[in-house]
Amino acid sequence: MSERSRRHEGRFDVVKQDQTCPHHGVSELTWPDLAERDDALLVVPVGATEQHGPHLPLTTDTEIAVALAQRLAETARRGASGVVVAPAVAYGSSGEHQDFPGTLSIGGEALRLLLIELLRSATRTFSCVLLLNAHGGNVPTLAGVIEHQRDEGRDVRVWHANLHGDAHAGRAETSAMLALAPERVRLDQAAAGATAPLGELIGHLRREGVRAVAPNGVLGDPAGASAQEGQALLDGALDELLGAVREWWPGVAGAGAMRIDAEPATPVVAGAPSAADAPVVAEAPA
Ligand SMILES: [Zn+2]
Repeated sequence: MSERSRRHEGRFDVVKQDQTCPHHGVSELTWPDLAERDDALLVVPVGATEQHGPHLPLTTDTEIAVALAQRLAETARRGASGVVVAPAVAYGSSGEHQDFPGTLSIGGEALRLLLIELLRSATRTFSCVLLLNAHGGNVPTLAGVIEHQRDEGRDVRVWHANLHGDAHAGRAETSAMLALAPERVRLDQAAAGATAPLGELIGHLRREGVRAVAPNGVLGDPAGASAQEGQALLDGALDELLGAVREWWPGVAGAGAMRIDAEPATPVVAGAPSAADAPVVAEAPA
């Protein structure tokens, strides 16, 4: 064997040995890995790229969706089940945040078409596909996508993450990001925004967008946020996710009792109109 091929072999060995990948992401897989099994569940994180106040990264929703998908895959692996995490859909329907620099929205129509084609393709390999959404503005579009996929006979579900906190870039999301990526949270820039209940803000929000209601882009108050609280919120969301997935796809172990539906099982923002009723507010859960 030549020196060169030995070097190559060594490099391939390193790649092959990377079977300890904790996330079972498609970046770790080749096509033969999936050729022999039709029982794997594909999880597609669906997020957004939009302003999250002066203190949180634009990618916050996407990162929360990815984190929950990875944790689901880790839990499933402990149960010897196959959950594969797809690359995230990092752009969503964020028109209500468009007045803030950095918001990169593709709108509901483009998101719908993107997901329909993606699911048509994905279900050629995976019999079960879960859209894991962490952006409230995507909820109405996702409901339509799921309905469409069911009409075409595919077993595709959606699950909406809900941190059960304030609406957008407030204490809940700030805590989550402190748990996930504290080095990218600018706590010195964190400030309260519009703290009135979403139900009171919704009309104004729908008419004029988030900036007219909350000039700093925050719907809530980051005060009191902590990594510990963020971990607890993410753990709670994971429990709900596990419960929902287990009812549908028994391969995964876990606790909880939430259903996965074409419609959000709970209002996206507690105490306010659901995002399905109020797409403009659009911020979810997380
Ligand atoms: Zn968010």
